[in-house]
Amino acid sequence: MSKSLLRIPYTGPLPPPLIIPPSATTRHGAIAALTKFLTEPGPARRLSEVHEGSNGHAKSIHDNKNKDKTVLLTGAGLSTASGLADYRGTNGTYTQNKSYRPIYFHEFVASHESRKRYWARSFLGWRGLHRSQPNAGHHAIRDLWRLGLVSGVVTQNVDSFHRMAHTSLPTVELHGYLRKLVCLSCRSEMDRDTFQARLAELNPAWYEFLQDLLRSGALDTENPEERRKKGFKTNPDGDADVPGAPYTTFRYPACPTCLKRPPVLPGGEKGHVVVDRDGAWLPESGPAGVLKPNVIMFGESIPQATKTAAEELVDEAEKLLVVGSSLATYSAWRLAKRALDRKMPIAILNLGGVRKEEVFFEGVERPQTFDVASSAAGGPGPGLPPTTNSVGTGLSTNGSVRVSMAAEDVLPGVVELVRGSKAKV
Ligand SMILES: [Zn+2]
Repeated sequence: MSKSLLRIPYTGPLPPPLIIPPSATTRHGAIAALTKFLTEPGPARRLSEVHEGSNGHAKSIHDNKNKDKTVLLTGAGLSTASGLADYRGTNGTYTQNKSYRPIYFHEFVASHESRKRYWARSFLGWRGLHRSQPNAGHHAIRDLWRLGLVSGVVTQNVDSFHRMAHTSLPTVELHGYLRKLVCLSCRSEMDRDTFQARLAELNPAWYEFLQDLLRSGALDTENPEERRKKGFKTNPDGDADVPGAPYTTFRYPACPTCLKRPPVLPGGEKGHVVVDRDGAWLPESGPAGVLKPNVIMFGESIPQATKTAAEELVDEAEKLLVVGSSLATYSAWRLAKRALDRKMPIAILNLGGVRKEEVFFEGVERPQTFDVASSAAGGPGPGLPPTTNSVGTGLSTNGSVRVSMAAEDVLPGVVELVRGSKAKV
């Protein structure tokens, strides 16, 4: 398996989170530190101020429409407040559902049985995901963009919440999205709601089962804890667990485009889609006309165009803020490392540890232990970030921030503080 394929996230133990600056152990301190990070000049402007514009390179970045702006890299931790489970808990294990094992791309492509199982579970899980909404964290990101501080978002999430919360802010969905399906033969897309209605038509018994679940109230709550109490489990990709359900009877539709126009298969020969009298895909089709959720599955590679778009968003910004990601997925880790190599100031807001996080804060001056008493006595006033701990030497560490809290508890406060300081000016 090559390095470019999406792999199961790193599941080993994570280091305890660093806290930078030390005052960021409190919500107040965290909000102040992140506000400073987002509002202070980027390294390009600092450079150009030093060189008074004589440095051609610095000047060209200075002219960038994204000068001083921050690109966000977001992960599952941002969506937990919307009722979606995080793959990892704060302890770095699959806490929501220990037996959870996601489907691999090669299984989905090769096996009709695997697809039946996948779609049966997804059929039941979809409604919960479909009803979920962006939370205060997403809306705060929209507000920070409107305040001119954010240039773009790269997200690992497939829930489309960013799109719903801020349609115009440039956003790259690194791992795709569940709102549509894509045909593996002709690449045409189908809306997930349309597909869901077809699944209901093709599987009346499962539809009844879904109605029973609805009546039981298991789907009334977005809270995974309460759902589990009612015997229903969902995973972050909208996949549901129904022990003992007869997956083998499940039917799913073929790609309607390929049904009308037989696709050309990778080998060059013409494919032929075979369906039953209700339009359900049959194995006689071979590889033709198979619809897949438009997400990057484990073992599948991210399209080059998506990778390039994500890299460009990083390269065009001056700072990187990681939100709700432990960077356990290589595609996310790579982007954060890219920002580090470009000497961009980096802030990480994630509840719990982050994979190899010490790499991002190497050389940041900070005390070995946090002395609460002296900080309280001699620390800066309310709303003011400390000036002694957060700044190291050189651009790579200057302004680094590391907060271990939930995004929705912190980002709305940052918006408020930025608005307050703008109102005073
Ligand atoms: Zn097709």
